Amino acid sequence: MQNRILLVEDEENIRKFTRINLEREGFEVLEAETGELGVEIALRDHPDVAILDIMLPGIDGYEVCSILREKVPEIGIIMLTAKTQEEDKIAGLERGADDYLSKPFNPRELALRIKSLIRRLDKDDGKDSNIIDNPPFKIDLYSRTFYKNGEEIVLTPTELSMASLFMKNPGKAFTRSELLDLNWGEGYEGADKIVDVNIRRLRAKIEDDPSKPKYIETVWGTGYRWYKE
Ligand code: CA
Repeated sequence: MQNRILLVEDEENIRKFTRINLEREGFEVLEAETGELGVEIALRDHPDVAILDIMLPGIDGYEVCSILREKVPEIGIIMLTAKTQEEDKIAGLERGADDYLSKPFNPRELALRIKSLIRRLDKDDGKDSNIIDNPPFKIDLYSRTFYKNGEEIVLTPTELSMASLFMKNPGKAFTRSELLDLNWGEGYEGADKIVDVNIRRLRAKIEDDPSKPKYIETVWGTGYRWYKE
C-alpha cells in the first residue's frame, strides 16, 4: 500500500519541489501551507508520516508537533530545521519528533529518512512472538501498545522501537551509535543527542522516578542498558 505523507510547509516552491520528489519515490503526498491546516488534514486523512517546517504563519511546527503527538500518537514526525540551529533540533525532539532534517535538504535524503521511519512504524509484522513480557512492562507488538502494570502508556514510534529493543535484550549495554543504527537506520548522521533526548522522554514516561532511573540504566561513557534482575 502506498504510504501517505503530510507535508506542512508555507513556502510554495519547497512544497512543490518536495512533493514531486516524494511522489517519484512512490509516496502519496498531502500538502498544507499552515500548521492549522496540517493538523486538520492529519486528523482527517491519517498520514503515516508528517514533515513539519518549523517557521510557519499561525501556529509553528513545534506546536503542530505537540498537537499531533497528543491526538495521533502513532504518526511518524520529521521536523525541517535550520542548518545552524542545534537548539531547534533538540526542541523538536523534546516535543516528540522522531527525526529531523536540516534545510536546505536533499529530497533523496528526506525520502530515505521517511522510509527508515516507516520501517520503524511497521517493523513488527506479527511473524515473531507478538508479546514482550518483562514485568512490570509488557509490549504487544501487533497492536503496538506498551503497558506498565497492565496500564497502557502511549509511546511515540521511536520510543516504542527503543523500548522493544531494550526489553528484548535485558542487561545488554548499547552504545549511542548502536542505538542510532538500530532505531534510526544504518548510516544515520544525527547527533548522539537524538538518542539522549529520546531516552529522557522514555524515562519520563515509564520510570517510577525519572530522576533515579531504575529500568533504563546509564552506562557511563557508553550508552544505555535495560536492567536485568
Ligand atoms: Ca517556513
